[in-house]
Amino acid sequence: MTQPTTTPGSDALWGDRMGTRDRVIVGVFVGIPFLAVIASVVVLWGWGVSWHDLVIGAVMYLIVMHGVTIGYHRLFTHKAFKANRPLKITLAVAGSLAVQGDPITWVADHRRHHQFADQPGDPHSPWRFGTSVPALIKGMVWAHIGWTFNNEKTNERHYVPDLLADRDMVLIRNLQLPLVLLTFGAPAVAGGLWGEGTWDSGAAWSAFFWAGLVRVGLIHHVTWSINSICHMAGERPFKSRDKSGNVWWLALLSGGEAWHNLHHADPTSARHGVLRGQIDSSARLIQLFEKFGWATDVRWPDERRIAAKSVTPGSVTPTSALKGDRK
Ligand SMILES: [Zn+2]
Ligand SMILES: [Zn+2]
Repeated sequence: MTQPTTTPGSDALWGDRMGTRDRVIVGVFVGIPFLAVIASVVVLWGWGVSWHDLVIGAVMYLIVMHGVTIGYHRLFTHKAFKANRPLKITLAVAGSLAVQGDPITWVADHRRHHQFADQPGDPHSPWRFGTSVPALIKGMVWAHIGWTFNNEKTNERHYVPDLLADRDMVLIRNLQLPLVLLTFGAPAVAGGLWGEGTWDSGAAWSAFFWAGLVRVGLIHHVTWSINSICHMAGERPFKSRDKSGNVWWLALLSGGEAWHNLHHADPTSARHGVLRGQIDSSARLIQLFEKFGWATDVRWPDERRIAAKSVTPGSVTPTSALKGDRK
């Protein structure tokens, strides 16, 4: 077990404190999509959702979710592969459309999560308050959503000097407001124009609601479920020094990120779903990008490495697709 090189109390880990204004902004951007998800159930009951909304919402969901999983997470945080500049920028923009903060902030928090996973210093561990039932309930709420309101920011100079030195990333950070407008505006425009050639404002509002607000709310909660549910439940076939688990029923919606136990056991692996039957759409897309020559130096897992990481070698069956992945 490797000990963190810096203790959680060390000043080096913390940046400026989050002010009230920032917390209000977080509240608005977290709260409104969340209310939209709740409202969607009520609305769906009444007059339904058009198939245009579902198509636009599904397309946006796929693009934005993979912007987070492939871009923010596997590329920018863990360097599981190298991307050419157009792919890097596309992924950073797509991830920004998830309204989870800019890539630099997101990556800083996530690198800290891996350094202190489920120990003091982890920004979002469900085990933060203890192991009694009330402490775990409180911990789940904290890991899922509460931590986003925490005023302790991660020290970026310590955790993400590489991204701070990348002018493309700094530019995308500075463009967050227009990107947030885009993530809600694009589905509205698509919905309003999709039809008989004339602008339909009713359809635009409907697409704004379903493919904008509800879709962003859903992505928020799926991403946050990786922090809460996948550090609480799931199978743990691999050796990791934390409580990360593989939660199969979240795998599809999360683009393969719910194979979280393997991810903590082998964080730089480009594929998280390494066992037979474990769907990992993010890994599939990285494979495609590699074929096109946009992604290089991809860190694909191999059977020996998987066996070395498994708790009981011999009991795990790697996916047959791994063979094709090896260089
Ligand atoms: Zn984790
Ligand atoms: Zn990670």
